Amino acid sequence: MQRLALRWRREGKRVGFVPTMGYLHDGHMSLVRRARQLAGKQGIVVASIYVNPTQFAPTEDLSAYPRDLARDKSLCRDAGVDVLFFPSDAEMYPGRNSGGYSTYVVEKRLALGMEGNSRPTHFGGVTTVVAKLFNLVLPDVAIFGAKDWQQAAVIRRMTRDLNFPLKVVVAPTRRESDGLAMSSRNKYLNPNERKQATILSRALKLAKEVVTATRKPINADLLKKRLTALVATQPAARLDYVEFFDGQTLQSAEAVTRGTHMALAVFVGKTRLIDNAELR
Ligand code: AMP
Repeated sequence: MQRLALRWRREGKRVGFVPTMGYLHDGHMSLVRRARQLAGKQGIVVASIYVNPTQFAPTEDLSAYPRDLARDKSLCRDAGVDVLFFPSDAEMYPGRNSGGYSTYVVEKRLALGMEGNSRPTHFGGVTTVVAKLFNLVLPDVAIFGAKDWQQAAVIRRMTRDLNFPLKVVVAPTRRESDGLAMSSRNKYLNPNERKQATILSRALKLAKEVVTATRKPINADLLKKRLTALVATQPAARLDYVEFFDGQTLQSAEAVTRGTHMALAVFVGKTRLIDNAELR
């Protein structure tokens, strides 16, 4: 991969990169389309599929994570991806379980709240694998989804802090027609849970309505209580967190106004789903 990337660089080709964990859906493909726009007709679009073990805690769904490489390959082919990179664990982390791999990249500020609070080792795995992928693919531009808002913020910060010579672009969240944000993990939901899973987008919608209905800032704790009650109307749903914050700095907000960002994580049955939006 790196040899190819170095050749593209020598040839002056522009490279757009979309890292994923596979089991692709239209959210991923929208990032691929954006990568093509940004790389240009003469440029190269690279997608990667790697279910990165270092971003899963031992209790999480690493082995159950959905995989369908044959289908992913054909989706990438149809979407005009030039190179699909799907390394093995042995290639990415040679000897990780026997002391042969020991370097990690950690962002120490934006990665702390929300997802970082619920999944303390998660972002260290994400920044490590994304740094490695950047060094392998050597992209000019890398595209991430707004669906994982905190992740995008952490990666943008890492890119700046560690002087990766590339631009990070964040593309909008793609949703199913009933509002559920597309996610590979939606596959885990049984039909009953699938219906209840719209509670995340409904919570965002309610918060937007509350915020746009008044000109005054709204107390974040009061709004959290209201949203907690809304999520509790779904028997299969259990709220992990709901947070209000500044979309750029991720600094938490005590008063919620138009433009404040909201993120939430909800277990629907055993499946943990996340969503977020700017409230306007
Ligand atoms: P994943 O395969 O879930 O690790 O996601 C790979 C990339 O796709 C990340 O940048 C995600 O933020 C992005 N992504 C996942 N779901 C969506 C979605 N519904 N809309 C837009 N981007 C998404």
